[in-house]
Amino acid sequence: MKTNKRTFDVVVVGAGGAGMRAALTLSHAGLKVAVLSKVFPTRSHTVAAQGGIAASLGNVNEDNWHWHMYDTVKGSDYLGDQDAIEYMCRAAPEVVYELEHFGMPFDRLDSGKIYQRPFGGHMQDYGKNPVPRACAAADRTGHALLHTLYQQNVKANTNFFVEWMALDLIRDEEGDVLGVVAMEIETNEVMILQARATLFATGGAGRIFSASTNAYINTGDGLGMAARAGIPLEDMEFFQFHPTGVHGSGVLITEGVRGEGGYLVNKDGERFMPRYAPNAKDLASRDVVSRAMATEIKEGRGCGPHGDHVMLKLDHLGDEVIRHRLPGIRDIALKFAHVDPAKAPIPVVPTAHYMMGGIPTNYHGQVVAPHGTGPEDVVQGFYAVGECACVSVHGANRLGCNSLLDLIVFGRSAARQIIEDLKNNPNPKHLPADAAERPLARLARLENQKNGERVSEVGDAMRKTMQAHCGVFRFPDLLAEGVTKIREVAERARHTEIKDKSKVFNTARVEALELDNLIEVAQATMTAAAARKESRGAHAREDFPERDDKNWLKHSLYYSEGHRLDYKPVRLKPLTVESFPLKPRVY
Ligand SMILES: Cc1cc2nc3c(=O)[nH]c(=O)nc-3n(C[C@H](O)[C@H](O)[C@H](O)COP(=O)(O)OP(=O)(O)OC[C@H]3O[C@@H](n4cnc5c(N)ncnc54)[C@H](O)[C@@H]3O)c2cc1C
Repeated sequence: MKTNKRTFDVVVVGAGGAGMRAALTLSHAGLKVAVLSKVFPTRSHTVAAQGGIAASLGNVNEDNWHWHMYDTVKGSDYLGDQDAIEYMCRAAPEVVYELEHFGMPFDRLDSGKIYQRPFGGHMQDYGKNPVPRACAAADRTGHALLHTLYQQNVKANTNFFVEWMALDLIRDEEGDVLGVVAMEIETNEVMILQARATLFATGGAGRIFSASTNAYINTGDGLGMAARAGIPLEDMEFFQFHPTGVHGSGVLITEGVRGEGGYLVNKDGERFMPRYAPNAKDLASRDVVSRAMATEIKEGRGCGPHGDHVMLKLDHLGDEVIRHRLPGIRDIALKFAHVDPAKAPIPVVPTAHYMMGGIPTNYHGQVVAPHGTGPEDVVQGFYAVGECACVSVHGANRLGCNSLLDLIVFGRSAARQIIEDLKNNPNPKHLPADAAERPLARLARLENQKNGERVSEVGDAMRKTMQAHCGVFRFPDLLAEGVTKIREVAERARHTEIKDKSKVFNTARVEALELDNLIEVAQATMTAAAARKESRGAHAREDFPERDDKNWLKHSLYYSEGHRLDYKPVRLKPLTVESFPLKPRVY
């Protein structure tokens, strides 16, 4: 079968904050850019970001990028690469002002400056007191950001391929990346998109868990495609559980609620966080707050008939503050928890939220994967930014509001790197004859499979396994069992069948293709978690409760083939300042 082909300078897969920030700089440079998205661009998960974007503007209290850098290194439990963290924190004020100039409608202080609120782990003076560092547009910051970037891209003539799904990477014999094979969801048409640079900005994979704050489209497609093309996935054992998902539905209640003065209570009405984090209290890092909640619940102080959640209290803030600063949260509480937060507390539980790991990159967005000569080899033609990438600025635990920042800082730096790289590389390479072979074979299998299981059944088995075996606290026997179980689920996924093909719209096919990607991510997460015998950041093992810098201050690399793990050193040396020495992490 002949597969149509189109050629671009750059193909960007993903139209969230990361992909659109990169595309904007690329289009401004006059390059021919294609942006693919499974959904209309402004429905990407970035639109759901509530609380804000971190930058040390110091609009409310004194602040500077050194303190932001310190907090990020500490928040990462020292697993973050300090060169990338310095790069991000220094660039933060500039990229936020850039957004302001693009037209992003930030909230304002009376002085007219950008409004800032406190967020977990963001402190003044190297960890002393919480500082308002989150620049916010009410509790709809991601919405404002994504619409701003979309409008700017329309103006800059970026080409959007809406409801197109990338299926697989094209890599030649030398390991260079030459584009992607993609499918138009509505028509089933498969096309090769050839490019001199391919940038992945496909977002997270929160849907490997049953209880998740993530959108249904967050299925780790970029990671699945990279893994199938032989590229390792970095630090996959570190998955962030957000303390405040609405009990029962998983819908997110932003940390900004606690930033505005809300706090958590147990069934005795006790505000328990000061027992776990005497200084930062409810604004400690997310891993710390989630573990405290899980401990309260485990020790019998949970709320409700099953004692399986705690309460987030914000009624004392008053109706006016809630309506003005947290209007979206008010809606969510009314709709999903059936409470008016000005009158009653919201029932919450820790919920899977953010993937710290991803496709390994440097702070120029170039994908780095060992392929012969050294561990820091750049994969020619391949870049990744946003939640699907591991730069690594978040290490073992991300601070709130540092993700939107990561999208914008590294979206811009990757675009600048691509512009430079394409100057040295004016002609596209020849496509291998079998460029579309793998994705076509995957599609053919789905067409021809008989007597297979339903995709949704296998997906449920995967989500339940991840939830039960790889949660907030991790136990050795459950992890070992989890590795076996998730491999069994992976085997089942190879034989799924799309039932009633004639009746089901193409979304069934999309779900099957997404499951391939979810399974790659789930296997990487479980395998790397079982192997890391220490507790660091979001990875908390019951049998190894301490951080072990002697043996485990290193990034993991998971290879899909053979489920092999390898490790590489953390970059402890920043670009211009002194390295922050390792310390115990207390809040
Ligand atoms: C509810 C919620 C609230 C949050 N609040 C905050 C916050 O206040 N502050 C903060 O810093 N962070 C927050 N985060 C985290 C942050 O929003 C995300 O990490 C970030 O938005 C991810 O952006 P992205 O550009 O990497 O990906 P996304 O915005 O997820 O976009 C991914 C894009 O890739 C496309 N895509 C994926 N696979 C394919 C494929 N195979 N083919 C074609 N296209 C594909 C999708 O269509 C989409 O356009 C929040 C996250 C959630 C879930």
